[in-house]
Amino acid sequence: QKCLALIKKTKFLNAYITVSEEVALRQAEESEERYKKGHSLGELDGIPVAVKDNFSTSGIETTCASNMLKGYIPPYNATVVQKLLDQGALLMGKTNLDEFAMGSGSTDGIFGPVKNPWSYSKQYREKRKQKPHGETEDSNWLITGGSSGGSAAAVSAFTCFAALGSDTGGSTRNPAAHCGVVGLKPSYGLVSRHGLIPLVNSMDVPGILTRCVDDAAVVLGVLAGHDCRDSTTVQDPVKPLTLPNLTDVSKLCIGIPKEYHVPELSSEVQSLWSKAAKLFESEGAKVIEVSLPHTRYSIVCYHVLCTSEVASNMARFDGLEYGHRCDINVSTEAMYAATRREGFNDVVRGRILSGNFFLLKENYENYFVRAQKVRRLIANDFVNVFNSGVDVLLTPTTLSEAVPYVEFIKEDNRTRSAQDDIFTQAVNMAGLPAVSVPMALSNQGLPIGLQFIGRAFCDQQLLTIAKWFE
Ligand code: GLN
Repeated sequence: QKCLALIKKTKFLNAYITVSEEVALRQAEESEERYKKGHSLGELDGIPVAVKDNFSTSGIETTCASNMLKGYIPPYNATVVQKLLDQGALLMGKTNLDEFAMGSGSTDGIFGPVKNPWSYSKQYREKRKQKPHGETEDSNWLITGGSSGGSAAAVSAFTCFAALGSDTGGSTRNPAAHCGVVGLKPSYGLVSRHGLIPLVNSMDVPGILTRCVDDAAVVLGVLAGHDCRDSTTVQDPVKPLTLPNLTDVSKLCIGIPKEYHVPELSSEVQSLWSKAAKLFESEGAKVIEVSLPHTRYSIVCYHVLCTSEVASNMARFDGLEYGHRCDINVSTEAMYAATRREGFNDVVRGRILSGNFFLLKENYENYFVRAQKVRRLIANDFVNVFNSGVDVLLTPTTLSEAVPYVEFIKEDNRTRSAQDDIFTQAVNMAGLPAVSVPMALSNQGLPIGLQFIGRAFCDQQLLTIAKWFE
């Protein structure tokens, strides 16, 4: 009930699209019953959680923040949602996002942008007042980052203890960094994607947002595992339920990718990154510079692969099977076209067009196949570094702290999106686990996160190191 009260109090953040109050209260009663009767309790019994609105929830509207799916009520739960509920979690609601998880601001959904809770922190407000811009306080509100901004804001504002996000190119880690929470992208294949409405099937992973690394590990323990409904899940996953307390980091080797020193990186993030590396060094860890030479192709490569898969994925939204259907019925083709024009925003339509261009018979080899080869080179860069003895990579998560909405929308959103994902996207192309951990507050009083990237399926080791750092 405290969480529900906070959801109401922070409604202006626009973190939730649907609040499932009745469901949560019923689940809470059931949990209390189990407790009173001395029945065995689940791993998450009685714990309020929220779920990004691109995961199917049985009987609860699932919109992807798109007109295309407005009013769509799935008949089943995504595997990860079912697993949370099976362990006694309480579903507080469905969180806001960029339409179909395309974006990195949580500004592009039909329900409007998500506001970063830190915009209202005492420290930030005081700093802003010193600036002679004459704006009203509210026009300075900050974006959450995205696309899982609703989930990050929901955790950050204490309306739930954990939230599901999705991560295709950084969408869990980026908003986690901006909202001062932990954001985990598990190894590809460790957690089922069944019921996660796809963006890029070969890169999508359900993400976990929590307030501390231990909580992320507990939730990962609940979610991980083979699912016969997702053939990309591995048969025998590691199950990190509890993390050991690392006391000695002197045997660790931490890699710092030299290509990640990009000119767009803010000086504050840069200096916190160096500070973190020094901290490891002072505790006896080996900190070395490493090279991921294909980093510079990563954003372009992601773009070709992402839009190609989007073009194919979005074909299912034809006005017949799911969600929206226009009134035009002169021909099937006209109905398809009008439905998709009305249903999708510019970003989604733009990606469908780009993707279909890359997949044209005359372009396929030159773009799609070539991008797949580049993807392999990018993935191999990581393999080489880990084979040379590096345990984890330490990098920034985002280029800077969260920016005010008014500044974010000034630039072309798609260009901005691309720049923001520089540290996160390659990880998805390589299928590796990565976690963003809050490091410190900036001079403006806003959170800055750093990212650890681990070896494939070494999620437990990754989280153990992140916990030490936290
Ligand atoms: N910003 C990236 C994109 O728009 C990543 C999105 C995501 O991880 N869902 O494609």
